[in-house]
Amino acid sequence: MEPVHSGKVRDVYADGDDLVLVASDRVSVYDVVLPTPIPDKGRVLTQLSLWWFERLADIMPNHVVSASDVPAEWAGRAIRCRRLEMMPVEFVARGYLAGSALAEYRKHKSLSGNPLPGGLVEASRLPEPVFTPTTKAAEGHDEPITYDDVVGLIGAETAERLRDATLRIYSRGAELAAERGIVIADTKVEFGRAPDGTLVLADEVLTPDSSRFWPADQWRPGRPQNSLDKQFLRDWSSTIAEWDRTPPGPEVPEDIVEATRARYVECYERITGRRWR
Ligand code: ATP
Ligand code: MG
Repeated sequence: MEPVHSGKVRDVYADGDDLVLVASDRVSVYDVVLPTPIPDKGRVLTQLSLWWFERLADIMPNHVVSASDVPAEWAGRAIRCRRLEMMPVEFVARGYLAGSALAEYRKHKSLSGNPLPGGLVEASRLPEPVFTPTTKAAEGHDEPITYDDVVGLIGAETAERLRDATLRIYSRGAELAAERGIVIADTKVEFGRAPDGTLVLADEVLTPDSSRFWPADQWRPGRPQNSLDKQFLRDWSSTIAEWDRTPPGPEVPEDIVEATRARYVECYERITGRRWR
């Protein structure tokens, strides 16, 4: 198979008309990939994405061709999918105020041009989920864009359908996760177009790498929230005085690796209700 792309965490190969998306066990903290892998992370995230794709199929068809027809060495952590023409937009929906959205709210009392009430604080729940698209930068950071920018990029009809699909995917995901003790604060999805013109949900969906997962019982607006998956790594890394959050990242000790692995497994087990084998 021909390698076509290697991201921080995943590798992408072309195989005829298909792509094979392979999730590695790499993990990043503050956008820096650490030298130590987290065993099972790639499989957990792949299996979680597959679980969601099935449960979102009434909202949007997805790119999955097969989860089993992949080379044996990647079994469980690779998905064979249809190669699509990707929309040049990251479709983000937010239900809580965090990250770049918090900064925008503090400056303008709005999100992607949508006015918001005053009095919200870090990690507040928003009155309703908000669509906050960004560019899809090949390199560097994605920049926030407005809904009108999205219309300019992909046309009014497609923009409206994909904004609605993004908000429905987020709302369904957040509701289901909430019943199981997880706050999904926000999420990013990607869509592409098939040769016949159909719009298709692609990439990964509602995983902790594409979303903010918070333990619901620890949610306290007014301060930064603990990340369900990465908090151990972040807390530990902040004890490494020599590390200035630029590459290379520090080696991770075994107990922190194990605690982090357990958190990814916990995300999977809580959301799907299945045991991780
Ligand atoms: P980062 O590590 O910051 O996420 P990245 O986004 O470049 O970097 P990946 O997310 O690992 O890295 O790469 C997956 C790539 O595959 C993305 O560019 C995504 O848009 C693309 N992609 C996902 N599904 C499809 C598909 N069905 N057809 C074509 N491209 C796809
Ligand atoms: Mg990506």
